[in-house]
Amino acid sequence: MSPLFCRSCDAPLETVLVDLGLSPLSNSYVTPELAKEGEMFLPLRVYVCDACLLVQLQAFETREHIFLNYAYLSSFSESWLAHAAAYVEAATQRLGLGAGSLVVEVASNDGYLLQYFVARGVPVVGVEPAANVAAIAIERGIRSEILFFGEGTARELRARFGAADLIVANNVLAHVPDLHDFVAGLTALLADDGWVSAEFPHVLHLIEETQFDTIYHEHFCYYSLHAIEPVFARHGLAVVDVERLSTHGGSLRLWLRRAGRGSPSAAVATLRQEERRAGLLERKTYLAYAPKVHAVKRDLLEFLIQAAREGKRVAAYGAPAKGNTLLNYCGIRADMLAFTVDRNPLKQGSLLPGTRIPVFAPERLLAERPDYVLILPWNIKDEIVAQMHDVRTWGGRFVIAIPQLSVE
Ligand SMILES: [Zn+2]
Repeated sequence: MSPLFCRSCDAPLETVLVDLGLSPLSNSYVTPELAKEGEMFLPLRVYVCDACLLVQLQAFETREHIFLNYAYLSSFSESWLAHAAAYVEAATQRLGLGAGSLVVEVASNDGYLLQYFVARGVPVVGVEPAANVAAIAIERGIRSEILFFGEGTARELRARFGAADLIVANNVLAHVPDLHDFVAGLTALLADDGWVSAEFPHVLHLIEETQFDTIYHEHFCYYSLHAIEPVFARHGLAVVDVERLSTHGGSLRLWLRRAGRGSPSAAVATLRQEERRAGLLERKTYLAYAPKVHAVKRDLLEFLIQAAREGKRVAAYGAPAKGNTLLNYCGIRADMLAFTVDRNPLKQGSLLPGTRIPVFAPERLLAERPDYVLILPWNIKDEIVAQMHDVRTWGGRFVIAIPQLSVE
């Protein structure tokens, strides 16, 4: 096998953080027409760079393939919409955005976030590579360009729309195969006094809370501030502030400006200290990770086997990408987990990739009344328990596998 190299610093990748075995692409939901066909399983092996400690995966699929028919619509989560609305209000005030400003969102999805800027009269451009998803935004009157963001396309955007006062890059940095080209694009598009805000799951939680299911083929990198700062610095961007978010199990929102425009806030210094204390700057922390992942698998399988022996019925709620990582890694199939449900109509009627567990509309849970409901998107557990409170009426219980098994 030819050697792999770090996306940030080009050092050879030699240390494995955890090996999750073979797994299909997490977002390749199997339609009924394809149910008789095979699927491609690819090694889901996570590396940590010995030089810069960036946690990362090998990329197998072209970005064109991943985004060909992307099924994730941001607008189907109420908590995610509330998160977007609150962000827009805060950013508009903080940066003084108005009718003369330009906000660009990279990976703008169905316009879930930009709609709130549009409502405030702030001009926007959405950049979204998945044509079927961008079409929904355009239909809603949100100016959107169907393209992959990088240095070349950023220059074209700047020529057409002008420089951006704010570039929003939420939950996209993990999906970028060519990290330096992407960050060079941010710099190319940004006004001299502009701001970039970037959200991504903090690798601290992946490590400390054993959130290994957030690892999948379409996520190439898992960042700490320590590992990502050099990437921005190489392209003339500096981190000036950071916020902690509860989204996706614990995320960071970095605020960046061109280097030399403002010094880092106290929050940045605090985060640096916290990462140091958590051991994220030491290789040995990463070497201790895999045994914790193995324990989660054993506990979940033990629970499912016991439930099956007792004649209990177990179904799941949600069909997120993270669920596919968990189920494939644990080798769980429909004989142990009969079905799952999801509010996204694009996923209903399909089968989960690899495990071939069927996905139905949420009403199916109420009709089948299983004894246990395994919540796959544990990050929005409270929202789901509230929505599905009827499960309690027949004595059903909710189950979470991560960070450790809990039945409530
Ligand atoms: Zn590196």
